[in-house]
Amino acid sequence: MTPRVIIVGGGFGGLNAARALHSAPVNLTLIDKRNYHLFRPMLYQVATGLLSGDEIAGPLRSILSRQKNVDVLLDEVTGINSSERVVHLKQRDLPYDFLILATGIQYNYFGHDEWRKFAPGLESLDDADVIRGKILLAFERAEEMASSGQAASGEIERQLTFALVGAGTVGVEMASTLAEMSRMALAHDFRHIDPASARICLYEAAPRILPTFPEHLSMKALRHLESLGVRVYTKALVTSVDSAGIVVGGQRVPAATVLWGAGVVASPAGRWLNAPTDKSGKIIVAPDLSVPGHRDVFAIGDTAHIVACTRNLVGIKSRTPMVMPGVAQPAIQEGKYVANVIRRRVQGRQAPAPFWYWDKGDLAIVGRTYAVADLRFARFAGFPAWLVWAGVHIYFLIGFANRLFVLLQWGFAFLTQRRQVRVFSVERPSERNFIDPAA
Ligand SMILES: Cc1cc2nc3c(=O)[nH]c(=O)nc-3n(C[C@H](O)[C@H](O)[C@H](O)COP(=O)(O)OP(=O)(O)OC[C@H]3O[C@@H](n4cnc5c(N)ncnc54)[C@H](O)[C@@H]3O)c2cc1C
Repeated sequence: MTPRVIIVGGGFGGLNAARALHSAPVNLTLIDKRNYHLFRPMLYQVATGLLSGDEIAGPLRSILSRQKNVDVLLDEVTGINSSERVVHLKQRDLPYDFLILATGIQYNYFGHDEWRKFAPGLESLDDADVIRGKILLAFERAEEMASSGQAASGEIERQLTFALVGAGTVGVEMASTLAEMSRMALAHDFRHIDPASARICLYEAAPRILPTFPEHLSMKALRHLESLGVRVYTKALVTSVDSAGIVVGGQRVPAATVLWGAGVVASPAGRWLNAPTDKSGKIIVAPDLSVPGHRDVFAIGDTAHIVACTRNLVGIKSRTPMVMPGVAQPAIQEGKYVANVIRRRVQGRQAPAPFWYWDKGDLAIVGRTYAVADLRFARFAGFPAWLVWAGVHIYFLIGFANRLFVLLQWGFAFLTQRRQVRVFSVERPSERNFIDPAA
């Protein structure tokens, strides 16, 4: 019988595993609770109105439509019975011979899940829509209050204060883009408020922003953020979030819009298998990325805690193995690697050497034309780093049409300093939930 392979999750890891199994003698089922593959690195551009969702996402079904050995299923996995070799879906069970878990992460509210509704994190297209609506509505409310002249004292300032919690890549990207949006794209749209007076505040509990980058690059990013008007607070621990704003370092900061990017936890895949996990819930896997005690189950990407040797872009090997970072490249390479392990196993061939990581470095964008780049063998900031960022991100976008659209949109935004996607719905219940928790 043809072996049945189930992949849970059509993100960077799962999709690349599926593609790499294209000619393998297996029956493949890719299950995802969403019907699309999302290019997350550009999600902040949807949240800030530069791009629309369909420019950075593609339906899994159509991406894999030419691959004859794969079946795409829109469903949610709720558990696994490893002794019976079945995954539990919402309504039924599905048997497997090999299972790849690539279910990604969720935002971590450090035991305060009640903050989630006041401070959404940016994870899916829905989140991006909600956040864009929340940002634009804050400007609308401030305008309405200013024009009616009936705002309570400090209320317009509260509407125009945006608090971003967490200064990792996502927080820095959001803060810089929001600052430019308020000072450029929205600058001429309002009559009673000055959007440029918006306060964009970025809070980070660690001593510096972009903690995974070398210190001199995080300092450059900090200076650039400040030049854009972002107020950056480091060693600033947020201890409370509610509908009025946040409490940080014992001080209340009134803010109508709070956005979360402070920490992540793995999906519950580790609990489904009762597998060993690290403190963020990632499954600690063997060198061939299988789950200990489950030879035919593999965990990859943000679901897995993987320690591996690395080589950089110019081929230099690291002396010590390192823990794989929670970014797209490891997920892509791990997906391809487990596909190779499975292919060899079903063909009765020798197992490949343990997984090693081709480390292409880290990039973070800080505004329209500035980025920081740590390519390991070279580290730089500014417009050249932005060119590298733009080239890499356009190259990895799914589909030619998307690449073309994104290039055109960027060109338009660059020349006109405007944003295309500025419509939002105030009617969607999920959005209302985030926008006005009191409503
Ligand atoms: C806003 C944002 C910006 C980022 N920017 C960058 C960047 O610039 N560069 C970079 O390299 N990395 C970036 N990352 C990180 C990168 O996106 C992740 O490391 C990468 O997506 C991990 O791939 P993955 O396959 O493990 O998981 P994901 O890509 O997260 O995919 C997980 C998939 O599993 C599905 N799923 C989850 N649970 C279930 C279930 N129970 N049943 C069915 N399906 C399920 C989800 O719907 C999703 O499609 C960013 C992440 C975010 C959130």
